[in-house]
Amino acid sequence: KQAAYADLRDVEPFTRCGTRIHILMNAGLRDDIAALKLVGADGVGLFRTEFQFLVSATLPARERQMRLYRDVLDSARGKPVIFRTVDIGGDKAVPYLRTSLAQDDENPAMGWRALRLALEREALLKSQARALFEAAAGRELNVMFPMVSEPWEFDAAKTVFEDQRAFLTGRGKPMPSAVRYGAMLEVPSIVEVLDLLIPKLEFLSVGTNDLTQFLFAADRANPKLAERYDWLSPAILRPLRRIHQATIGSQVDIGVCGEMGGRRLEALALLGLGYRRLSITPAAIGPIKELVRQIDLAELTEAMTGWLARPPSDIRVALSAWAAARDI
Ligand code: PEP
Ligand code: MG
Repeated sequence: KQAAYADLRDVEPFTRCGTRIHILMNAGLRDDIAALKLVGADGVGLFRTEFQFLVSATLPARERQMRLYRDVLDSARGKPVIFRTVDIGGDKAVPYLRTSLAQDDENPAMGWRALRLALEREALLKSQARALFEAAAGRELNVMFPMVSEPWEFDAAKTVFEDQRAFLTGRGKPMPSAVRYGAMLEVPSIVEVLDLLIPKLEFLSVGTNDLTQFLFAADRANPKLAERYDWLSPAILRPLRRIHQATIGSQVDIGVCGEMGGRRLEALALLGLGYRRLSITPAAIGPIKELVRQIDLAELTEAMTGWLARPPSDIRVALSAWAAARDI
């Protein structure tokens, strides 16, 4: 299998019926980027910028952030990279910011984290904005905001970025050739107002790790709840289909960047729901490319549509039988 996946490295993943599926990778550290070439990903669909903050004893200075982002873009050699602004706080507490469970939050996943924290600690977001603009000078920059729960949060974060862009432009700094803004969809509230958010966005990335935890009210890290935290439950698949459908006819590129997309049956489910962009862990890229090459989307979509309308007792079992019957 290892050899077979290596052979797929330079092969673009088309389905049997001829649709190009975009398979990107999730990353967070400078060293992760080596995998981009190794596994033949289409780019980095999620760069978790908070990793640098988490491994650092003090707040990383703007210059250090800039060097990391520039190195990542250099290594990506023109392939797209989506930088997610810091998702610290909650379970990703950093000691130099007062966000830890013991200090503030009784319920860290739902606490003062990610964009909530960044909009209040505006200096943090400003310095990240400047570091990103500087690192991407002359190239395309993709910025994604985490934990957007209401459309105004996206507006506020984008305004911070655009103000910094205007400031730097005014000082004659070289700017990115294009800047694209997107949001993560990982909080259920935003699903209810998605029609209001979509016109503001260039891209949308569904974070199924957190979205699932919030939809089930089941902590993603609690092994006692692992069986309830089921990506193939109709309670997850139906909203995922609604979310995808809401973007049809808009200019928004939609994808999934949760770990779900890196698992065989879950990836099949996402493709059957209409998703064509998956950002996954590097080790899963070979196997998912191979999977993509074996499927017929019309057949898969029809099967998924049937299962969602009249769910069998276990969609996992149904999907698994569907795949086995086709030697997938
Ligand atoms: C997610 O929530 O699905 C996601 C991709 O982000 P993270 O795992 O970093 O919370
Ligand atoms: Mg998340």
